[in-house]
Amino acid sequence: MSLLRDRIINDGKVIDEKILKIDNFLNHQIDPEVMHEIQQEFVQYFQDKGITKVLTIEASGIAPAIMTAASFNVPMLFAKKTTPSTLKNETRYSTDIHSFTKDITSRVIISKEYLSKDDCVLIIDDFLANGNASLGLIDLVRQAGARVAGVGICVEKSFQPGRQALEEQDIDVYSICRIASLEGNQVHFIEGH
Ligand code: 5GP
Repeated sequence: MSLLRDRIINDGKVIDEKILKIDNFLNHQIDPEVMHEIQQEFVQYFQDKGITKVLTIEASGIAPAIMTAASFNVPMLFAKKTTPSTLKNETRYSTDIHSFTKDITSRVIISKEYLSKDDCVLIIDDFLANGNASLGLIDLVRQAGARVAGVGICVEKSFQPGRQALEEQDIDVYSICRIASLEGNQVHFIEGH
C-alpha cells in the first residue's frame, strides 16, 4: 500500500508516453503526508549504509532529500544550476547534466567545502528517466573522492534506461514507485522497488 502510488493514480497527469506530471503533490505543491511516506521508505532501505550526507539537485529533489536527511540527522546538500559569483572555479566541483524535461544541458555545481572523501552519500531525486541527473550527481561525489551509498528515487519510469545505466555502475537503486509504461494515457506500475 503506497500513498505515493495512490496519488499518482488519482492526481497524476500523463502528458505524453514519456512524461508524467505530478505538480499537485510533489513537483510544485508538496504534500507533507506523501513526503513523510517517502522519508520512511528511504530511511528503512538505506538505514544501515552509514550515510553522512544526502545529495540532490534543485529544485524538486530538495523536499524528499531534506526529509530523508532529517531522519538520518545528517546535512542535505543540493547541486545548484546557477553558479554564485562567490564560488570561484577552484572551490567547486562541477558537471554537465542534460535535463530530460527541458532538453537543455546545464552545468551544475557544489562547493568543495561540503563534500569530502570521508562522506558516504545518499543521492535522492524525484524522477528517474534516462539517469542523467543521478549520473551527474554521482560524478560530483566521485570528484570529491567520496562514496555513493545508493540512489533513492520517488518515481522511476522503468521503460527508460536510467536504472540500467546506474546498475551498470554498481549503484544500488531503490525506487518507491516504478512505472512500466504511460501508454494509453494511463499509468501502469511494476511491483517491487
Ligand atoms: P533523468 O536525468 O533521469 O533523465 O531525468 C530525471 C530528472 O528529469 C528529474 O530530476 C526530474 O526533475 C525530471 N523528469 C524526468 N522525467 C520526468 C517526468 O516524467 N515528469 C517530471 N515532472 N519530471 C521528470
